[in-house]
Amino acid sequence: MESDTAPRRVPVSFELYPPRSDAAAIALGRSIDRLADADPSFISVTFGAGGSTRDRSLTVLSYILENTRVEPMAHLTCIGSSAEEANQLVRRFLDAGITSFLALRGDPPTDGSADVGDLRSAAELVQLIHRVQQEREPFTEQPMPGQPRASRLRARPRPERVAVAAFPSGHPDSRGPQQEVDALLAKQVAGANLAITQLFYRADDYLDFVERARAGGVTIDILPGIMPATSAARLRRIAELTGEKSPDDLLIPLEIEPTDEGRAEIATEFFASLAADVIAAGAPGLHLYTLNKHEAVLAVIDRLGLRAIPATSQENA
Ligand code: FAD
Repeated sequence: MESDTAPRRVPVSFELYPPRSDAAAIALGRSIDRLADADPSFISVTFGAGGSTRDRSLTVLSYILENTRVEPMAHLTCIGSSAEEANQLVRRFLDAGITSFLALRGDPPTDGSADVGDLRSAAELVQLIHRVQQEREPFTEQPMPGQPRASRLRARPRPERVAVAAFPSGHPDSRGPQQEVDALLAKQVAGANLAITQLFYRADDYLDFVERARAGGVTIDILPGIMPATSAARLRRIAELTGEKSPDDLLIPLEIEPTDEGRAEIATEFFASLAADVIAAGAPGLHLYTLNKHEAVLAVIDRLGLRAIPATSQENA
């Protein structure tokens, strides 16, 4: 990447998903340790819509809480849950010590087999998280005799972040760009204090969205979500899952490059350049989708000079 000036130092954060086997869990533990060394502001862990990964998500979040100094952020989805089930879910995570959430609607099953439940949007889940937190406090708080009220209030656990998703290129359900801004504004009004975007490949997709969101009244930070995919097969899979079409200037070089090292370098160059562009234009941080591997995301932040702590060991070991 050609750059005359080093990018402004910005916070980074990472996303993981719960492992699907014991072997994957061991590898993930090692990756979490490496990612934690980069001193991210938080690590978020995805949640299967309908609660399919609830216990495994909580295990990963607890690992982060107990073994690193990094703030764990729990993704939660509300589709298919009754109000009472959603309430219990939030309580369970708070009881485990998780105080930061990414509140999502999730996707209903495409065959229409399941009831969509009581909560129909991420905005409703944001409200519920705040409500559960407020309701829970008087019951968990055990004021010591003579303890001043102010210190009791300070001692109360509070969600540090209630984040929500944003879609710079439009959500598949969206009727148009303005609806995307309205949806994000509704989530902010419900109490969200951070937005994290769907992955994108062009800086202008993110920057134009932020401009429209600001014009529409959105004031919360909007973190750009970047996934440094290192293979053409991965890019095609991402396009299937998210509708985000891969750009030819990334897809074709990855397609024709014969070596893993060469593909890793192409991806590092492309995504570090994308990240540098959004940082230079004022992005408040970088949220990197790891796909449960540390190498590609750490290569990007190293290329940008954003790692807080120098690596102590080889990343590709
Ligand atoms: P919502 O914000 O409730 O709505 C989705 C869309 O509907 C909006 O973007 C908008 O187009 C429209 N809409 C909703 N409300 C309004 C309104 N008031 N006004 C106008 N339009 C409206 N899925 C999982 O199952 N598990 C995960 O862990 C997970 N993590 C994710 C993390 C990120 C960063 C992102 C971007 C997505 C993630 N998803 C996850 C996918 C997400 O659940 C789906 O994209 C889902 O279809 C939408 O969820 P949402 O929270 O954006 O929904």
